[in-house]
Amino acid sequence: MNFESLGLDARILKALAEKGYTTPSPIQQQAIPVVLSGQDLMAAAQTGTGKTAGFTLPMLQNLLAGPSARNNQVRALVLTPTRELAQQVADNVSLYSKYLPLKSAVVYGGVKINPQMLKLRGGADVLVATPGRLLDLYQQNALKLDHLEILVLDEADRMLDMGFIHDLKKIVALMPKQRQTLLFSATFSEEIKALAERFVQDPAEVSVSPANTKAATISHQVFEVDKPNKTKLLIQLIKQEGWRQVLVFSKTKHGANRIARTLTSKGIEAAAIHGDKSQNARTKALADFKSGGVQVLVATDIAARGIDISQLPYVVNFDLPKVPEDYVHRIGRTGRAGETGHAISFVTEEDIKELFAIERVIGELIERHVDDTFPPTERLQASKLDTRPIKPKKPKKPKQPKAEATAPEGNNRTQTPRSGNAQKNRAKPNGNPAKRPKNSTEQASQKASGDRQPASRAPRKRTRPDTPKSE
Ligand code: AMP
Repeated sequence: MNFESLGLDARILKALAEKGYTTPSPIQQQAIPVVLSGQDLMAAAQTGTGKTAGFTLPMLQNLLAGPSARNNQVRALVLTPTRELAQQVADNVSLYSKYLPLKSAVVYGGVKINPQMLKLRGGADVLVATPGRLLDLYQQNALKLDHLEILVLDEADRMLDMGFIHDLKKIVALMPKQRQTLLFSATFSEEIKALAERFVQDPAEVSVSPANTKAATISHQVFEVDKPNKTKLLIQLIKQEGWRQVLVFSKTKHGANRIARTLTSKGIEAAAIHGDKSQNARTKALADFKSGGVQVLVATDIAARGIDISQLPYVVNFDLPKVPEDYVHRIGRTGRAGETGHAISFVTEEDIKELFAIERVIGELIERHVDDTFPPTERLQASKLDTRPIKPKKPKKPKQPKAEATAPEGNNRTQTPRSGNAQKNRAKPNGNPAKRPKNSTEQASQKASGDRQPASRAPRKRTRPDTPKSE
């Protein structure tokens, strides 16, 4: 199969050819015809499968059929959990639409809001956004969603994990009921199905990887090591094995800084990314890592969400994740596109429960190793695979992840009223757009900083992950 046979516009095909893509990936083969037909879609696809082009290409084509966006209108909205992912998706949109008369923009927190407001003035055919900044902009009347034609929820499982559910509900309540909704998620958990019931109507379901399983091309290894020797072991492995492009996960921001500093002092180029780093510092560290200037990127889970680095060969769990499912997210960055990736975990006796939980989630026992130079004082308990089915998680209350939480974000925002039956009365695409809900936002004055704004006098409800402090 080739892209021509999917019926894409010649201008999109030209951009694809220039990029060197000839064959649609499996998710693209399945998703593109569905999206072109106007049907809603639920797609189970992880990063690295080509999912972004899977929704972007047909979305662009569908937008060609209608009039261009004007006056702060948004015609297609792609919501992503992280700023990094928003930027990546936006880069894809720009690339694939380079020969099309469509305007696109990207907005996320952590950078000034004023330039984003200016950019949105003339409207955007495609807007890529993180939920928090989108609501901020909406509340400042910088964008309108009442003519929205297409909504894409990218990495919906992460959006739920990061506590965006209330923001999503508010955003969806501002949109016409008649629209096309595409929901992409690495897994189809009960939580995601519940979300889909609210937002998606009669969807086609496509899947390219079984839910909740690790990619097949990843080798897992555990190193039994005492805590004080973890950094030394990491340095030894990187040097002896000649590892390049290593993503290291630390459970704390301080830990990430410390590891990066020690590696650098031993002649290994390393950088840390976490919630205390500015967006610019994070973008630079990521760019340097991708280009090879930085050999080791040390990240916390929140900061690493949404990072797309293809063919990343090594992921090191310097600390095991607190939640076993995060192991799958972490290692999802390695072993892409048929490459073999290596997931290496440093485990001490006090992490043993976490290790057992991870083995239960991935459904296999992980090979254990002991390094001769840094043998553990005590060997770990042997694992026995727990094959009991894992109960679906209850939807989480929105909260700021503890490991990343620092200062309050200083933003008050009212709950945007939802239109009562908005979700129940959904009609299929191509009907008339619904009216904008009354009272949908409040005028908000803008802070001198141009970044955050007080939206109302209402008491602060909660903190949000999409802020410089939390990512
Ligand atoms: P994604 O899953 O959207 O993050 O894409 C993973 C990687 O695959 C990105 O670097 C894309 O640029 C690349 N990609 C997407 N579609 C194709 C294709 N049809 N052929 C080759 N590479 C692709």
